[in-house]
Amino acid sequence: MQPSIPTNKTAIWQELEAIPDPEIPVVSIVDLGMIRAVECQDQRIIIHLSPTYNGCPALEVIQMQIRATLEQSFHRSVEVKLALDPPWTTDWITPSGREKLRNYGIAPPQPRKAPSGWRDETANVSCPHCGSSATGLVSAYGSTPCKALYRCNDCLEPFDYFKCH
Ligand SMILES: [Zn+2]
Repeated sequence: MQPSIPTNKTAIWQELEAIPDPEIPVVSIVDLGMIRAVECQDQRIIIHLSPTYNGCPALEVIQMQIRATLEQSFHRSVEVKLALDPPWTTDWITPSGREKLRNYGIAPPQPRKAPSGWRDETANVSCPHCGSSATGLVSAYGSTPCKALYRCNDCLEPFDYFKCH
């Protein structure tokens, strides 16, 4: 029996939207803007994936999950190609992805400004719990290298800030 063949890419995107980021499972790899393109060739599905932070150990897990999920759903061979140019930036995180981060207690990244790095932008990090901008950096490295640890001076809660990139 011939397996069903996806006639459009919507079904593939829907499957990808269900794959969580291994480090922050409340957001999917689509929320994070990691999927650059979906291609369907005769018998193959090709996914163009932009890695987030260099050296994020989650990358291999994500590639395996994409292949396993799509092979199971569509019975096609799946290739994951890394799309390194242009490099991924936090600007690609979708509005709904930012909302999910905030609801989870992680301050979403600010839009990038100067290429001088994230240090300049941290003055505006608002607390994901109470919205106060009276916050201070506690540690440049939070629970993962992708995040910094902050503390709110109003509600006194610590929180992670997803660093700009
Ligand atoms: Zn607060």
